[in-house]
Amino acid sequence: MKFCPKCAAPLAPKISGGRERLSCSAEGCDYVFWGNPVPVVAAILEYKTEVILVRNVGWPLEWYGLVTGYLEANETPEEAVLREVKEEMGLEGKVISLVGAYSFSRKNEVIIAYHVKGSGEILMGEELADYKLVPPAKLKPWPSGTGHALRDWLRSRELTG
Ligand SMILES: [Zn+2]
Repeated sequence: MKFCPKCAAPLAPKISGGRERLSCSAEGCDYVFWGNPVPVVAAILEYKTEVILVRNVGWPLEWYGLVTGYLEANETPEEAVLREVKEEMGLEGKVISLVGAYSFSRKNEVIIAYHVKGSGEILMGEELADYKLVPPAKLKPWPSGTGHALRDWLRSRELTG
């Protein structure tokens, strides 16, 4: 963002709400680029005795992650995560628990992660290049973003047996 979307004047750093933010430099225009994080939902998707990891189109071959997606207008996070499970894997999902909320600063997102049980037949959606089924004991959480949710979920499973 370099220019004001309201009046097209250049943006410049200015103190707003207690910290420096890009703000419109024009006299009489109050535009501030807040840069608030965008919420994303993620599913630790259990299917039978395994967890489904997915590879999005365009990702490197060795990258697999959780089912994720953005919320639609007027959708709750739970509705969004179940819609993504349906769209990406063709499965009917049931939310078992909220695992947690995690900041993903690299993409300026907040990840809201759920444990979801999936049922039905797998039918992979067009956003995905591949998926794999991994037994929970073999899951190795990655050190960023949704990996933190997976780590916390695995820990809670160990605690409850
Ligand atoms: Zn402006």
